[in-house]
Amino acid sequence: MNTEAKSVWNRCLSFIKDNIPEEPYNIWLAPTEGVRLDPDTNTIYVRVPSQFFIEWIEENYIHIVNAALKKELGGVERPRPRLIYLAKAENNPNKTEQETLPVPSDAYANKKAANINFKQTVQEPFNPYVIPGLKEVEIDPQLNYNKNFETFVQSESNRLACTAGMNVAQNPGKTSYNPLFIFGGVGLGKTHLAHAIGVETKNNFPNKKVLYVEAEDFTKQYVDASVHNNKRNDFIHFYQQVDVLIIDNIQFFSGKGGTQDVLFHIINHLHHSGKQIILMSDRSTVDMQEVNQRLLSRFRWGLSAELKVPDYEARKQIIKRILLRDGVHMSEPIIDYIAANVQTNIRELEGVYNTIMGDALFLKREITMELAVEAVDKIIVKNNKKALSPDSIQDIVAKYFDISIQDLQSKTRKRHIVQARQLAMSLTRKYCSKISLVDIGKRIGGRNHATVLHAIKTVDDLVETDKEFKKYFSDLTKEIEG
Ligand code: ADP
Ligand code: MG
Repeated sequence: MNTEAKSVWNRCLSFIKDNIPEEPYNIWLAPTEGVRLDPDTNTIYVRVPSQFFIEWIEENYIHIVNAALKKELGGVERPRPRLIYLAKAENNPNKTEQETLPVPSDAYANKKAANINFKQTVQEPFNPYVIPGLKEVEIDPQLNYNKNFETFVQSESNRLACTAGMNVAQNPGKTSYNPLFIFGGVGLGKTHLAHAIGVETKNNFPNKKVLYVEAEDFTKQYVDASVHNNKRNDFIHFYQQVDVLIIDNIQFFSGKGGTQDVLFHIINHLHHSGKQIILMSDRSTVDMQEVNQRLLSRFRWGLSAELKVPDYEARKQIIKRILLRDGVHMSEPIIDYIAANVQTNIRELEGVYNTIMGDALFLKREITMELAVEAVDKIIVKNNKKALSPDSIQDIVAKYFDISIQDLQSKTRKRHIVQARQLAMSLTRKYCSKISLVDIGKRIGGRNHATVLHAIKTVDDLVETDKEFKKYFSDLTKEIEG
């Protein structure tokens, strides 16, 4: 190791550090090292962890690197300063060095001339989804091929997300839907659609590296990679080689700052290199808690599409699709009954269907209306709330805040009681939609309808701006929905 090379490069690094943001510096430049200086050609050899570093530095910071080199190695009587990168060969373990992209570009021709004699240990490349035995690094896309567009019933409730997804699969990275952000409640088809887009992309472009990953797995891999020294960069590189990255359940990233930072860089890099990002979330970006603003702003770069609850006709179609898949016959009135009574989501629709089939097979019974009614009762009534009345909502709210109904309805202006009262009004409005504002006011301590309106607005505002209040609201919602 040439100590002069090291100190020259360190001086370059400190100049670069002063001129670029801290985070990219830490990721892309801090891990580099000057290893050799050739005074005759005024060339410095810099070791970088992988080929990706070269690309990234060249693409983003070449001007500043050049300026640093000029400052340290420039001079009238010296040859123009040059930089040769030494990268670990990523796909070929026999090759331990690689020089590329010298700067300035007229030195390209000379790159083979340098006879560098330096070895470094080659770590196994980080690839949690590696297909072993293949020379090219290949990624198992982790797709479920049964979840494709053929088996996904389209309707008004998912039209935008579907169309955007298909466009993306035809033109990954080339549409303005990047990232494609799809959100919606549980059981509405996010995971199915995520796979369908991946499968379709793979059909259209078999050579593209598509990867489906759950946010939870991504986080685990990141944490593992960071605690095993020096694998953090490998983790980043791994994800940066993907052409189409699909991350499911990204609400899981809430409150996980480290993972958010790394995801931010990966998204930036992919976006920048024309790669496609697809994100699935159980809530919109507005409702995401503890996700930092710059990452949220990345989520909003492309298109945001919501999956809604399918309407009656769509629910019927979904049932019919399942019947066709399984070769099962069910009479039209039974299909109607299920579609009319299972209004929550598609997972419950499947739950009811599976229960019917289970009972029919187990009890060797025909699929009758009676069986369908039983199944709907079992699945839906169990999951769904007791009848909600303004009184029951006041009860729940009062218990939650540990105050009495009298307090709740009283005229007191104590802050926590005012908040409880406003929540009771707002939740009554939400869950007892048939009751008018006037009636809500009457039932909660004889207020007028303007007070109720004001309460609803205040609750909406506070939910947006006050974390603690938002928690009250979501706790109570959960409590009410059972
Ligand atoms: P989410 O990820 O939004 O919770 P899933 O994608 O897991 O929901 O969907 C729940 C179930 O419903 C899955 O078995 C899925 O295949 C099925 N499903 C969801 N949407 C549709 C659809 N539009 N057409 C057919 N099946 C669907
Ligand atoms: Mg899902």
